Amino acid sequence: MRRETLTGVTVVVAETDRDRFWSRVDTETTPDGCWPWTGALNAEGRGRFSAAGVRDYAYRWPLVFDGHRFEPGDEIDHLCDNPACVRPEHLELTDHLGNMRAMGERERGPSKLSRRQADEIRARRSAADRPTQRELAAEYGVDRSTVSLIEAGKIWGW
Ligand SMILES: [Zn+2]
Repeated sequence: MRRETLTGVTVVVAETDRDRFWSRVDTETTPDGCWPWTGALNAEGRGRFSAAGVRDYAYRWPLVFDGHRFEPGDEIDHLCDNPACVRPEHLELTDHLGNMRAMGERERGPSKLSRRQADEIRARRSAADRPTQRELAAEYGVDRSTVSLIEAGKIWGW
């Protein structure tokens, strides 16, 4: 049985499904830096992706790859106004971020990294001989989109 929303579901996505997802994303050719979904788009220009028995908008999946669980009220805003875009830096998870900021002193984010590790990642990404996001993701055992979000200050950014 297939669900039509990621909200309220804990999803574990296989590596092959992640590869399948990113193989459908154009990360290179758009002049504005968007990473548009190259699969089918609906009338509003949004792509969809299915994995682990769940189907939902493509741009919600990179967060799920990091272990994020969507709760009711979680909304993703496209900062680039391109609904096909799945680039983490162009997305803002609104209610979730509001909740995280409200927690103030909380040390741990939504994923499996500590705040200290997030600070390390940010520092290493701003160094002259910086490793790639992919290398850091492999080293810290997280998805590349998590490194993107950390670097952009979208999570652990306060
Ligand atoms: Zn974009």
